[in-house]
Amino acid sequence: MRCTLRFLLRKAAACALFAIASLSAYSQSVPAPASTAERTIAIRAGNLIDPKNGTVAKNQVIIVKDKKIVAKGADLAIPKDAEIVDLSNSWVMPGIMDAHTHVTWGVPNWQKLYYDYLDNSTGVRALVGLRTVQTLLNAGITTVRDVGNDGNYAAVDLRKAIDAGWFIGPTILTAGKIIAPFGGQISDIPLEAGPYWQFDYIDADGPEQIRVAVRKNLFYGADLIKLVSEVSGKPDYYSLDEIRTAVEEAHHANRAVAVHVYGGEAADNVIRGGADSVEHGFDLTDDQMRLMKEKGTFLVGTEFPEAHLAVGDPDAKEEAAKYLDRLRRAYKIGVRMGFGTDIVTDLPNETRADMTWNYLAVWRAAGVPNPEILKCMTTNNAELLRISAQRGAIEPGLYADIVAMPRNPLTDIESLRAIDFVMKNGTVVRKPK
Ligand SMILES: [Zn+2]
Repeated sequence: MRCTLRFLLRKAAACALFAIASLSAYSQSVPAPASTAERTIAIRAGNLIDPKNGTVAKNQVIIVKDKKIVAKGADLAIPKDAEIVDLSNSWVMPGIMDAHTHVTWGVPNWQKLYYDYLDNSTGVRALVGLRTVQTLLNAGITTVRDVGNDGNYAAVDLRKAIDAGWFIGPTILTAGKIIAPFGGQISDIPLEAGPYWQFDYIDADGPEQIRVAVRKNLFYGADLIKLVSEVSGKPDYYSLDEIRTAVEEAHHANRAVAVHVYGGEAADNVIRGGADSVEHGFDLTDDQMRLMKEKGTFLVGTEFPEAHLAVGDPDAKEEAAKYLDRLRRAYKIGVRMGFGTDIVTDLPNETRADMTWNYLAVWRAAGVPNPEILKCMTTNNAELLRISAQRGAIEPGLYADIVAMPRNPLTDIESLRAIDFVMKNGTVVRKPK
């Protein structure tokens, strides 16, 4: 009997030990980043770019501690215990921001775009998003503004997982479900298909439904509000009154409003209604852009490269030319612009990061100077995202989101493709080999 008891006790102890061993094996398998955020890091920056002013300061030292930049200057004393990161031969600047992403979305071509509501669960969307944001971060894109199409708030979950430190990733600001007039972002489907768009969209018609939809999104964790007003093939778009209501409700909660719209009266309503940004705006007239400039409305133009449109769009050439012309006019008029890609399709043999840099050729072709492109990707986007007090510059007190590359992007913007150093919130994500 005693023998049996001793055996049982020994067995119980063995079980407990096994359980502890399994737990620690489990916790080891959780992919936590090797955090360097608590240590003091001194970065020797040979060429430090200030994208706000388009200037370069030589031989600077940046001191990073507790996720933030604590000091910056030419003659700084480097603390004895600091880890030194030598970027003496590099061009150093704040992390890049993309103001129009759909990170949880990735389809092979435009025809497949709206099947994604049906094909992929929220869980799959979150995993697609994790893969995409890690690819972007590794390339130097340290902040994304995700403007919807994430099923049931997959991007909110992704943001939470990254903020909790379970995974390394960029800062994510997310719109939650997109608010649109009845029918979301599709048209011409049979009644029998059912309202399947509601997986990604909230139908809201009239000011009161818009108010409820905004509040719903805020409740479920949205950082901004995204409306889709104008959809090709759909007769309705938001009235001035509806836009005003969305803006009033969102601003009351200190959130910005981004509206997908192309032009015409729909765009007039968006601009006059006080939205913070026009997304796309491919049909904007010069007068409309002048009004945007006057009112301080941002344009996030998402001017697709022709090769991106060509996957399943027979009018790719004409459309790309139209977008380029609108970007050229917008720059000339001086409307405030944020850099945003709107990548939703995948291209074979190209990552989302490669695809992001493909937009640079469009901006160059539209005559936007390199320093201005860098400013749109950093200073302007930080302002649009309402995070200038935290990110978008290399200044003491701001989070250490820092990238570097071997060539000067102010003279050759394509140098961004060669980013080989990435620091996110003071943690080194990538170092030159
Ligand atoms: Zn979009």
